[in-house]
Amino acid sequence: MLRSPFLLTVAAVVLGLVGLTQLNTPVMQVLSFATPTPTATATPLPTNTLTATPTRTQTPTRTPTLTLSATATATFSPTANRKATRQARATQTAAAPTATLTPTATHTPLPVARSARVPILMYHHVGDLPPDADALRKSLTVSSERFNEQMKFLAEQGYTTIHLAELVNHLQTGAPLPEKPVILTFDDGYDDAYFNVFPTLKDFGFKGTFFIIGAPTDYGSPGYMRWEQILELYENGMEIGAHALTHRYNLGQFRASIQDSEIIKGNQLMVDHLPNWTPLFSYPSGSYNQYTLGLLKQLGYIAAVTTKQGALQTSQAPLELRRIRIRGEWNTSQFLYWFNYWSSRP
Ligand SMILES: [Zn+2]
Repeated sequence: MLRSPFLLTVAAVVLGLVGLTQLNTPVMQVLSFATPTPTATATPLPTNTLTATPTRTQTPTRTPTLTLSATATATFSPTANRKATRQARATQTAAAPTATLTPTATHTPLPVARSARVPILMYHHVGDLPPDADALRKSLTVSSERFNEQMKFLAEQGYTTIHLAELVNHLQTGAPLPEKPVILTFDDGYDDAYFNVFPTLKDFGFKGTFFIIGAPTDYGSPGYMRWEQILELYENGMEIGAHALTHRYNLGQFRASIQDSEIIKGNQLMVDHLPNWTPLFSYPSGSYNQYTLGLLKQLGYIAAVTTKQGALQTSQAPLELRRIRIRGEWNTSQFLYWFNYWSSRP
């Protein structure tokens, strides 16, 4: 209750000030948005406006040029903020804002087609064979001694190991690669990757890419790396990719619901355990179809490796990168022969 004209006046003044302050807030916002910083307008790449789109959510008065240049360069970086990267990719690639699981039948053509001859070596086990090893296991297992010889060959020949993210960045932006780039991939997430591969790579100053099968890792199945070990690889400069949830299905031969389960659940485990994870994929047994490609694209995957033999990688097909399978039964001269053979072919 107001008991005097004086108090009434004071109250009126106070109310007036409050009203002005409230009015001022949007005015100030509009003013600040209308003043772009010099760095915002200097972003040169055409992709910048696309990648930064998800950050423009606060107000319709912002213009597309008021974007963050930092998110543009973060797109292909392994240390990029995962959420921003995935949102940005979804915006770049998907026509619909909602990420439906309908596969896109074709790749969207990129502005500049680019190719690069980069051998991506495919390993599975590195270490000793179990006593009961069958022919498949023998073929999938390279002994520690042979593996060491192979790394020595690459080092002596002047090869530099790079990450898949670097290759894709090169294919899509033209960012330079070292003169003789090579990528080392290790499928399935066996614990010999941690005990045998990791120390050898460190000795040579090399980096590798390790593809993890979600379920056996998460269950702590014997013979598979645990999340702590995978995290240690990751924090020591190794690249980590997904290799489906169970690896039981040749994805290209199965219906959408199976593929959804294998890929989306496997993806979630990686997101849950690896901070700022960049989505990379290896097709179990090399099997995929158009639905698989569409799903990976919509989930923001930047690269996926196949079992197609070859070393010529193209910007049109970053989700269909070729590899060179390294066989356990090869001696060193066979390794050299086949490495050179496939490295020089499409
Ligand atoms: Zn596999």
